[in-house]
Amino acid sequence: MNPSEIPQLLAQIALADKRVRRTDPIELRAQIAMWAGILADVPYDAAIRYAQEHYTESTWEILPANIATRWAADVRDRMNRHNGTFEPTKYPALDPDDVEGYQTALRTERRAVAIGATPPDTTKALTAGPAATEVAERLAELGSYVPAHVREVLAELRPERAERERLIRSGLGDPLGLRCPHPPCGAAPGSRCTTNGRDRRQPHPSRVDAAQEARTAA
Ligand SMILES: [Zn+2]
Repeated sequence: MNPSEIPQLLAQIALADKRVRRTDPIELRAQIAMWAGILADVPYDAAIRYAQEHYTESTWEILPANIATRWAADVRDRMNRHNGTFEPTKYPALDPDDVEGYQTALRTERRAVAIGATPPDTTKALTAGPAATEVAERLAELGSYVPAHVREVLAELRPERAERERLIRSGLGDPLGLRCPHPPCGAAPGSRCTTNGRDRRQPHPSRVDAAQEARTAA
């Protein structure tokens, strides 16, 4: 919340609790500065909601901390429900090799979830059941020399690898797992498709189809 919104917030709260109102100009200025500092991250509408919650369960004069702690709990709750998985398909314009752009997108996305601008993504990856064994086998074929928890951290820095793992976990075909059937390209397994010698961001459609067919046949 902007410091300029604090007087409005205090006036609104004073309708429910006159004790919040300061008449001495020096006291009022100090009060505004204090509330503005503590509630910098809290949106105005949320602050009003927390104040209402406070007065439905308490007769004590509200403190900015009463609002800030409720906000922190809400942020924690949203981030706990958010799976934090980066979905490259949501960012078609982002080049897989653009590490900085990728990190910025990830940060922006997490911040949006934290402040409640975007709902948390609660979709869970396949981690249990009969499919999980098969997923584990396919991931093993991708090769690994780092433990899973380290790989999760690295995944943020290796979007292409992360994308292949995501496809496999979702039970989808992994186009880079086979040779590209598109004659002018014919990229080897593990290599990206190329057009006129230049790397393509997306595999050729026929390679995607072939990967999907291989999945369906399996
Ligand atoms: Zn290709």
